[in-house]
Amino acid sequence: MKTLSCNCGFTTKGENNYQVEAAMWHHAIHDHGDMLKSMTVEMLEQWLLSKDEQLKAGA
Ligand SMILES: [Zn+2]
Repeated sequence: MKTLSCNCGFTTKGENNYQVEAAMWHHAIHDHGDMLKSMTVEMLEQWLLSKDEQLKAGA
């Protein structure tokens, strides 16, 4: 079971990385749309790297 958590407190669980990453993007687009729009590519890269670390730690 994979889990990812957002810094707002939202947590998602899934069978594989794609499921939790998709759920996290869905959450981010719906609940943090303005934040995503204000982020640079480099900031998104850092965000994705931190999610990768979370997935590795939870594996
Ligand atoms: Zn969130």
